[in-house]
Amino acid sequence: MDEAWGRIAALYQFQCSGCEDNCCQSLFFHHTHVEKAYLRHGFDQLDPAGKNEILSRAEDYRQKTFMENEAAQSRKIMCPLNENSRCILYPYRPMICRLHGLPHEIRKPGFPPLTGKGCKAGQFHGKAYIPFDRTPFYQNMARIEADYRQRSKKQAG
Ligand code: SF4
Repeated sequence: MDEAWGRIAALYQFQCSGCEDNCCQSLFFHHTHVEKAYLRHGFDQLDPAGKNEILSRAEDYRQKTFMENEAAQSRKIMCPLNENSRCILYPYRPMICRLHGLPHEIRKPGFPPLTGKGCKAGQFHGKAYIPFDRTPFYQNMARIEADYRQRSKKQAG
């Protein structure tokens, strides 16, 4: 996944240097049990002070984002794992973080492909689309997740 992303980004001559539409301020719920476990594995390797700082930012995030009697909505708060514009658990980050940014397509049998324009950094406007099909990554993740759930006896949902 990382290799494919890097190859396509290089073809666009795209380098993320930060933008107002910072993807680490997005609110997303797309992750699997296995991604959560992998992120947790990275977190467990941090020192106690680092963990406490993240937990404190995470609690702040939770309170501001998930208000009582209100649907959760993005308030453009930085992910608790982002420090000085860098993800401190970068090698362990979820798939949605790894795939973000590039124009892409997702294919479902019987439906036209879903397409995404890429992030608002601007480098893609006016450039011909370079095929980046996310489908095989989702399919592989589904297989890995099913295997993980079976081994760890986790239920779907
Ligand atoms: S996990 Fe890392 S890459 Fe993903 S949103 Fe948080 S800081 Fe950004």
